[in-house]
Amino acid sequence: MSQDMSQFSMGWNYPSNILTGVGRIGELPAVCQALGMKAPLLITDPGLANLPMVRDIVLACHDSGLGIAVFSEIKGNPTGKNVLDGMAAFRDGGHDGVIAFGGGSGLDAAKAVALMANQREGLSLWSLEDVGDNWKNADADAIAPIVAVPTTAGTGSEVGRASVITDEVEHVKRIIFHPGMVPATVILDPELTAGLPPTLTAATGMDALSHCLEAWCSPLYHPMAEGIAVEGMRRVCQYLPRAYVDGSDLEARMNMLVASSMGATAFQRGLGAMHALAHPLGALYDAHHGTLNAILMPYVLRANQQAIGEPMVRLGRYLDLRQPGTAAVIDWVLELRERLAVPHTLAALKIDTQQADKVGQMAVADPSSGTNPIAFDANQYRDIFVAAVEGRL
Ligand SMILES: [Zn+2]
Repeated sequence: MSQDMSQFSMGWNYPSNILTGVGRIGELPAVCQALGMKAPLLITDPGLANLPMVRDIVLACHDSGLGIAVFSEIKGNPTGKNVLDGMAAFRDGGHDGVIAFGGGSGLDAAKAVALMANQREGLSLWSLEDVGDNWKNADADAIAPIVAVPTTAGTGSEVGRASVITDEVEHVKRIIFHPGMVPATVILDPELTAGLPPTLTAATGMDALSHCLEAWCSPLYHPMAEGIAVEGMRRVCQYLPRAYVDGSDLEARMNMLVASSMGATAFQRGLGAMHALAHPLGALYDAHHGTLNAILMPYVLRANQQAIGEPMVRLGRYLDLRQPGTAAVIDWVLELRERLAVPHTLAALKIDTQQADKVGQMAVADPSSGTNPIAFDANQYRDIFVAAVEGRL
């Protein structure tokens, strides 16, 4: 079956300038030049740095007269030291812009380096943690321009105004926020995600779904985010099983990249209990963020059900489910998980209930809990967690 891919070639301006389509990565040198870069620093994780796609980008930039270099000393969960090292590489190399390339870790580290590299001496990364008006500590004019190129479809960090960086001294993940961190231009090229294995395709895709779903259930008033969230979910519904079964299905890959960007755009409206639990579980058990959200999803929907009846009916109608409502959406999630071979219990990830009280306390303290449709207390979070370990839906 041949696919006509020309329909995907568009240019959008919300929220960043977004270039979509097969082969658009070829425009990267021109995009850098349009942003005034002469010497971009490409920041990515070590697993991607030696792949042909990065080598091709470096060659293409050289051919266009750009003084490009690659920085890839980044951990899976990027640390404050990774950002400091990246800032040093940026300054020592005389760079004037950042190409953020990769999955969530590469994109987040790159955005933090762009934020920090040209700030005044002595300004610490942690002083820009997303609390109150902290971001005003930074000089917005000093932020280096960013082009973001995601190679997974899930986090949506390419359209986000924050980075998650691990404070290795305090052993916590901190959200670093500045409105100027949002990349000026995003390139969504599905060929860059075609090599992603099925399990990662499923886990990252379910993360995108969880962003849309939690944004959809948030009580905040944000109609634009609602519209983006519900269409993002329809695209996951239609295209994630296809991308999972056949990684080279570029139409499915294209639409999952878009759904991922839509999820992160939508969660300006807030996240909820899935993420409030997934964050501490990720920190305590080092499990994949997307897999955690995928497992937690039906348990959280069930716990929220008395507060989400109306949005679940509207979602069910939009997804064309029979008897639209919370039960139908939960059934749909269960069926989707099964098609993607996502486990039904946290026990399948070797997570037990020994730290259940701690998980409950960490969840209620997580910023994502603030926009869950019900303000669960630590005991209620503990109960949802225990149900998800034991598979009691
Ligand atoms: Zn997430």
